[in-house]
Amino acid sequence: MKLNGKIVFITGASAGIGAATAMAFAAEGARLLLSARRAGKLAEVASKALARGAEAVHSIDLDVRSRHAVQRAIDELPPEWAEIEVLVNNAGLSRGMEKLYTGRIEDWEEMIDTNIKGMLYVARAVVPGMVVRRRGHVVNLGSMAGEIVYPNGAVYCGTKAAARAINDGLREDLLGTPVRVTSVDPGLVETDFSLVRFHGDAGRAAKVYKGITPLTGDDVADVILWAVTRPAHVNIARVSLTSVHQANTLLIHRDQ
Ligand code: NAP
Repeated sequence: MKLNGKIVFITGASAGIGAATAMAFAAEGARLLLSARRAGKLAEVASKALARGAEAVHSIDLDVRSRHAVQRAIDELPPEWAEIEVLVNNAGLSRGMEKLYTGRIEDWEEMIDTNIKGMLYVARAVVPGMVVRRRGHVVNLGSMAGEIVYPNGAVYCGTKAAARAINDGLREDLLGTPVRVTSVDPGLVETDFSLVRFHGDAGRAAKVYKGITPLTGDDVADVILWAVTRPAHVNIARVSLTSVHQANTLLIHRDQ
């Protein structure tokens, strides 16, 4: 599938995997619809994407936890931006790393509202248009955490297990249409993810990647681009990827 001139909507495009995905699609000449809450960071990504080759960029200041804001953002798109071809449902986060029975309930709410409900709201707003137009591809950011739960991460892992079920259910419900659904499920990727998880504690975040060569946002973006550019009849259901330092969520090799 050729991407030049196609509209690609990426949520959580202000940083990490979303920003890297914006660059990968920009290099293919796509038209990028980028959303996140931090408008300043999003503007930086937008100008880099234009320099990288994006045909055009339209940015939306959007918190995916607000179902009304999500629906309004899609309903009010300028007509030349309305025909979304690819949705990268990426906005997400982890908060805290504690035993379930001592965890902060505010952290749970934020993860559930963003990773599960936000993902659902965006799909609910965008996919009907894809079905009517009989074209489209939804790429959901799952995680290896959705396959194997790790200690002190039950709620984040639970949100990604839910993302996995939602991804599979959406593919089942779209059977009979040409709309494709893919889950991209990485292991450790060095982004702002751990900094956000530990509420800005940079020292604790750095330890997550100590002694390993983690995946980068670009590595994940590369897989997303690969899944989207397969021939139109090929649906990549799920891709799991890790760095060579990681076998699964529980087994990580750290160099001394
Ligand atoms: P990141 O660098 O922290 O980026 C997260 C992005 O999500 C940011 O652009 C952030 O933008 C956006 N976001 C968070 N909450 C949002 C909200 N309520 N509304 C709108 N946007 C929101 O982390 P990342 O590693 O790129 O994570 C991207 C996705 O990959 C997440 O779904 C994550 O669960 C998944 N993932 C990450 C890893 C990893 O190791 N890094 C592994 C597996 C899966 P604003 O703050 O500007 O809104």
